[in-house]
Amino acid sequence: MRKKPDGRSIEHEILRWYRTNRRDLPWRGTKDPYRIWVSEVMLQQTTVPAVLPYYKKWLRLFPDVGALANAPLDNVLKAWEGLGYYARARNLHQAAKVICREHGGRVPDAYETLIGLPGFGPYITAAVLSIAHGLPFPVIDANVRRVMMRLFGLRGRLGVRVDRQLLERLGSIIPARRPGDFNQALMDLGALVCRPRNPGCLSCPVQMRCLAFKRGEQEVIPAPAERDFKRIETVVGIINRGKRYLIQRRPDGGLLGGLWEFPGGKREKGETLRDALRREIREELGAEVINERRLLKVRHAYTSFRVTLHAFECELAGPPKLGRTRHRWTSLKDMKRYPFPSGSAKIVHFLEETERKREGRGGG
Ligand code: SF4
Repeated sequence: MRKKPDGRSIEHEILRWYRTNRRDLPWRGTKDPYRIWVSEVMLQQTTVPAVLPYYKKWLRLFPDVGALANAPLDNVLKAWEGLGYYARARNLHQAAKVICREHGGRVPDAYETLIGLPGFGPYITAAVLSIAHGLPFPVIDANVRRVMMRLFGLRGRLGVRVDRQLLERLGSIIPARRPGDFNQALMDLGALVCRPRNPGCLSCPVQMRCLAFKRGEQEVIPAPAERDFKRIETVVGIINRGKRYLIQRRPDGGLLGGLWEFPGGKREKGETLRDALRREIREELGAEVINERRLLKVRHAYTSFRVTLHAFECELAGPPKLGRTRHRWTSLKDMKRYPFPSGSAKIVHFLEETERKREGRGGG
């Protein structure tokens, strides 16, 4: 049996702190599983301030599961543009379709059903079940992980083993009443008090029980995971016909699937950037580059790798071979309608700035 909060328990202290210190966020105070689901998906690997405008806009565009399921994928990706990790948006869309088709438009409340939906890993499933349905499933995000590791003095490196230990401990203290509040209280405690640097131990409701505090180890727990990021270099061709630029849609399903980009691809081992550009344009568009000029270099960080994008302005020997649905000639103004990954969006921004300056000079 799970313990009920009492005057001495950790969970009671945390819930009591939460009552007066909780963050006032637009997804708090609702039990609507759709809204909670959307907020939690957006919040994965993104900060609250970054999510706020997206969340509000999303609910205006797709106020319920049905509206999301019926929206074209391009609109969904466009609403997500800038949040990164586009697979999450595609999964939201896919899961909404399944919920409408198989569950009458109601987000299921059984763990096995929910976790079988696209994009519903253990975290999202537990968050929706605990916050929307009041079921005692613990969650672990970066904030919860930090608080718990410090509280229990766990010095292991971040990873699956530590998370398993934490889930066990959380499972034994999550209260049967208000489990969703308890999960959110831990998230808020991590965000507001038990911060990564300079944690506010003096105002912490569980200071008396915290092993990291007792041992003076707050700054060394959690030990960072050892990561060796894969680095990828890509080349892209900026090809224009007057004021219209050639863009193409990435295939559905793969990395950044369904998003738009400029033609190009990865530099192979031993290739120069220019050789890679010529090869990629030949392979993708069946055309030879006869002139190219370096425009800019853009860096972007993904979860497990780092990309450097080298953009070249290109002139082709003949007309490119284009797919009817895959390619578009589009003006910079119209590009706003297409969802781009962040790296390509920086190139669009650069082109806009260049055009603006050119027109400014022309006008002055
Ligand atoms: Fe975090 Fe300090 Fe509270 Fe421990 S006492 S949980 S280190 S804020």
